[in-house]
Amino acid sequence: MEHYDQARYGPAGEDTNEPLLSEKDQTTVEVDSSLPDDLTRDEVELPSPEEPELARHYVRLSQQNYGVDSGPYPLGSCTMKYNPRFTEEAAALPDAAVHPDRSEDSLQGTLELLGDLQDYLGRIGGMDAVTLQPPAGAAGEFTGILVAEAYHEANDEGHRDEVIVPDAAHGTNFASAALGGYDVVEIPSGDDGRVDLEALEAALGENTAALMLTNPNTLGLFERDIETIAEMVHDAGGLLYYDGANLNALLGRARPGDMGFDIMHFNVHKTFATPHGGGGPGAGPVGVTDELADFLPDPHVREGDAGDYELYTPEHSVGKVHGFQGNWPVLVKAFAYIDRLGDDGLADASAKAVLNANYLAEQLDYEIPLGPFHHEFVASAGDQDAADVAKRMLDYGVHPPTTKWPELVDEALMTEPTEVETKDNLDDLADAFNAVAAEDDETLESAPNRTTARRIDQTTAARNPRLSWHDLE
Ligand SMILES: *Cc1c(COP(=O)(O)O)cnc(C)c1O
Repeated sequence: MEHYDQARYGPAGEDTNEPLLSEKDQTTVEVDSSLPDDLTRDEVELPSPEEPELARHYVRLSQQNYGVDSGPYPLGSCTMKYNPRFTEEAAALPDAAVHPDRSEDSLQGTLELLGDLQDYLGRIGGMDAVTLQPPAGAAGEFTGILVAEAYHEANDEGHRDEVIVPDAAHGTNFASAALGGYDVVEIPSGDDGRVDLEALEAALGENTAALMLTNPNTLGLFERDIETIAEMVHDAGGLLYYDGANLNALLGRARPGDMGFDIMHFNVHKTFATPHGGGGPGAGPVGVTDELADFLPDPHVREGDAGDYELYTPEHSVGKVHGFQGNWPVLVKAFAYIDRLGDDGLADASAKAVLNANYLAEQLDYEIPLGPFHHEFVASAGDQDAADVAKRMLDYGVHPPTTKWPELVDEALMTEPTEVETKDNLDDLADAFNAVAAEDDETLESAPNRTTARRIDQTTAARNPRLSWHDLE
């Protein structure tokens, strides 16, 4: 099988690392500035490429990359779908770029869009009130935890100091609860990959502030006992938090609010549209039930009696979690996407996401120990090392799945093709998986051979990031 695309990756095996602009010709430029002298330099060395060189530099860099515009990107849990360009166009409209500090009466269009998006998300999630402020899913979790804390305090239940999180949960759930000052109580999953009701019962008590869950969970499995779980948590006086990262599986079909969840976040960059990766950009709106609405961040958008829109501070607000109303361009994209697709389009997206995951899974030679699953599945690389499988898949010109998580499955390959892939793309992906499944350890360990960068030292890159070109000098 020859999937390698030279135009996409550059000449195979050659070191095609593009030099930094600062490593090329520099010109001395005199600085003429009205800033105070002690803040400025008299002259600086700046790269001086002509326009064609500059354009080619960035195009070459972009060709070394792999993104949702290049091909399938089945990175499980992250929902890496193609982002339709009309959402970019909406966010780039001249009228979309207003200064957020302008007076409310001159911001009516902006506030109306935000108000409508709050309503859309409330309807999609089955929630009574929605804040758009948090700038990411993780920030939404943290905001939700602050809301839960404020709610318990207001009800003289401030002694509740534990948040329960299943072992298969995303790392941000543990981190958000801990950052909110809670003790994190981890519960093991049952043999079927779902919440173990006995373990939950044992963990619940008078100190329980909340249980954080995602549904379908990170194995792609629907928590069938969700109504019982909600009842157990509520009987113990706790709140049920929904991690919305897997909402793509339920869109337009089932709603966390109807399942008994009290608080949820939306990863609008996953479920709706916005290119994401490497930590941003995104938005993590948070929805809550009526009884928690007064605790949402400040400011909140509402429609006034005269049909105008205004900003107000909810009565017991937890305060600000981000500047202004949140990550505005991302919210415009989410609004445009939801508005264009409508009820039927959203339901169609989740249907295809689930169908694509099941179609792909059906063809894999790797074992998939748990099911039936929804929009993603977790295969096991078995005797192979999942990280090596991922590196080798790059040689076949496709992006690999998420690996080694959740830990419930040995050598996990967590795969989420999303609704945007065609049958041909899914067939190609399956071919790549199966070609790698048949290869020996030596081949896998030497991969990737056909990418611009070979095995990078991921640990060092994560622990000692070089964030400035000065470090390279
Ligand atoms: C992505 C993800 C998060 C965190 O969301 P961000 O928007 O990346 O901050 C939380 N939980 C799950 C299950 C996720 O996949």
